[in-house]
Amino acid sequence: MMDYQSKLNQEVVSLPKSGIREFFELVNNSSDIISLGVGEPDCPAPWDVREAAIYSLEKGETSYTSNLGLLELRKEISTYVESEADVSYRAEDEIIITVGVSEAFDLALRALVNEGDEVIYHEPCYVSYSPSIVMAKGVPVGIKTTIEDKFELTPEALQSVITAKSKILILNFPTNPTGAVLSRESLEGIAKLAIENDLIVFTDEIYRELYYSEEQADGSIKPLLSIASLPGMKERTIFLHGFSKAFAMTGFRLGFACAPAPITDAMMKIHQYSMLCAPIMSQRAAIEALKGGRKLISPMKQRYHSRRDFMIKAFHEMGLECVVPEGAFYAFPKVSSTGLMGKEFALKFLEQYKVAVVPGEAFGEAGQEYIRCCYAESMEVIKEALDRMKQFIDKLPS
Ligand code: PLP
Repeated sequence: MMDYQSKLNQEVVSLPKSGIREFFELVNNSSDIISLGVGEPDCPAPWDVREAAIYSLEKGETSYTSNLGLLELRKEISTYVESEADVSYRAEDEIIITVGVSEAFDLALRALVNEGDEVIYHEPCYVSYSPSIVMAKGVPVGIKTTIEDKFELTPEALQSVITAKSKILILNFPTNPTGAVLSRESLEGIAKLAIENDLIVFTDEIYRELYYSEEQADGSIKPLLSIASLPGMKERTIFLHGFSKAFAMTGFRLGFACAPAPITDAMMKIHQYSMLCAPIMSQRAAIEALKGGRKLISPMKQRYHSRRDFMIKAFHEMGLECVVPEGAFYAFPKVSSTGLMGKEFALKFLEQYKVAVVPGEAFGEAGQEYIRCCYAESMEVIKEALDRMKQFIDKLPS
């Protein structure tokens, strides 16, 4: 029998599997489980979007596209990002279409990181950040954010980890798993530090439209401030966005990066040798998504908003500390007050009450006392899951 472990890349061998996937293998092996686990909208993509993909196939569009992606889509992205994030990118050479934000993120890292470069991010954070940095031969430097600071990254905390080897800062607001967003003041402080220390900033804004405080009293929308739009930042920022979350298009696997032309070009080189291009029918669907824009997003967002309010109220009634998430579709209650750490809580709750939630430690050490619950689920499932959680907590020894 071949010794596969010795054949495999040792970096890969030592990488842990995603805490979410590991947990969901348990879920898949049992029946009757309800889940607040996976970070995925409970509804399909809007019909217009699906129809555009169907029409593309009907027309026989089954070819490759340009490596950067369809120019028509890049032009739509340029217009959309300018109106949503107030920063303008050229469709010709500053935008690349990718297979999800996942690929865009990986390309950006591989295009920039040399062995030993330090890559800073705030924790708890999306599960793939640290492993992706390691695979790109960078050194992950996590900054723990706290419930007392509403999980916001402060310029002071950033300052404290910057060294001569710091090269990249990763921001994700609204944050998966905490729903945190930053004030203008904090973003400006962080931008100032990025400029002073010559950092490249990745801003993963995959949840930017799912920001619940953007509706103004007069009914207008004031979208979330992007660090890319601050003075002096466009030239050092990679803006990452995609269609999975706000447009409920996870399975289309489509995202994009906007960045200065030399960086886009370097990312394109890796993309053309590894992925070639994103699927054409998904690109057609994405054009339709952007044309529909807020009109398509708004009904889904309204549902998430009321489910969020319902869920947070229920946690507070159970005596769990939980910051009101300002964006995305996750709540991150602190469960250690029940006497159980997040992982133990999630395992016992799953075993005894058949409800799946994600242990907070999947999002880094800073999440050990927490669990993540996704509220992009039907109200029926949310109510039932929270009902069972109350029973579970009530029966724990005090
Ligand atoms: N970035 C964040 C913060 C996420 O939460 C996710 C998915 O959960 C991704 C990126 C990956 O998204 P995509 O489906 O576009 O690859």
